[in-house]
Amino acid sequence: MATLEINDLHVSVETEGGPNEILRGVDLTVKQGETHAIMGPNGSGKSTLAYSLAGHPKYTVTSGSVKLDGEDVLEMSVDERARAGVFLAMQYPVEVPGVSVSNFLRTSATAIRGEAPKLRTWVKEVKEAMERLSIDPAFAERNVNEGFSGGEKKRHEILQLELLRPKIAILDETDSGLDVDALRVVSEGVNRVRETGEVGTLLITHYTRILRYIKPDHVHVFAKGRIAESGGPELADKLEEEGYEEYVKGGA
Ligand code: ADP
Ligand code: MG
Ligand code: MG
Repeated sequence: MATLEINDLHVSVETEGGPNEILRGVDLTVKQGETHAIMGPNGSGKSTLAYSLAGHPKYTVTSGSVKLDGEDVLEMSVDERARAGVFLAMQYPVEVPGVSVSNFLRTSATAIRGEAPKLRTWVKEVKEAMERLSIDPAFAERNVNEGFSGGEKKRHEILQLELLRPKIAILDETDSGLDVDALRVVSEGVNRVRETGEVGTLLITHYTRILRYIKPDHVHVFAKGRIAESGGPELADKLEEEGYEEYVKGGA
């Protein structure tokens, strides 16, 4: 079973006024088969954590470690991270001119599996995954992220998740901007992948709404750049009622 282990992670972002420390000692272990929700107020550093795991150049790890089965993730290039089985939904947030969804997915699958999937079975796999996510077949021929609506981007993320089957999936605000129907479809996709028992999921969200559809095994409250409290699903219920106030008082 693959294990992602984050240890005392400190991350700074470059600003005009110099480096600004955003993550202040994050400790978290996610194992294949587990679903963790990271919840927290806006600006607490949740996306910074996701970007840091993705290897985004703007975020500098100043101390701490991230390991996948003992291998140093921070030493890996973005591609190597994907090949190692770490999936970051925002890894490809940009438009990829001239590359269709279908080609993009096949290239990604080839990189991750180490060989190109057989064309005939691949086309079928993609078609079936798209049907499950209620994605129009024409979507496969569109260029990646070109003119995608918010909902299309999220469905595309889950389509990647279903087809690429990573060991560890990091989903940042997958629920934001989705209407109830899209939220249900997206959540069902996450749950299907989860049921394989082969993916460890880090579900980052500001709202408790998605947790009605995806029941996390572990809930962590993120505040001021670190995990302020961890618990089971009942912690999400408490947050739904009481909000984040208790965690943010006392200034930055
Ligand atoms: P969250 O996802 O929890 O809302 P973020 O990680 O997006 O929080 O942001 C945490 C803090 O780091 C905020 O104060 C934000 O302004 C700052 N920050 C994040 N990314 C950058 C960046 N690229 N440049 C400057 N400041 C940033
Ligand atoms: Mg934010
Ligand atoms: Mg964010």
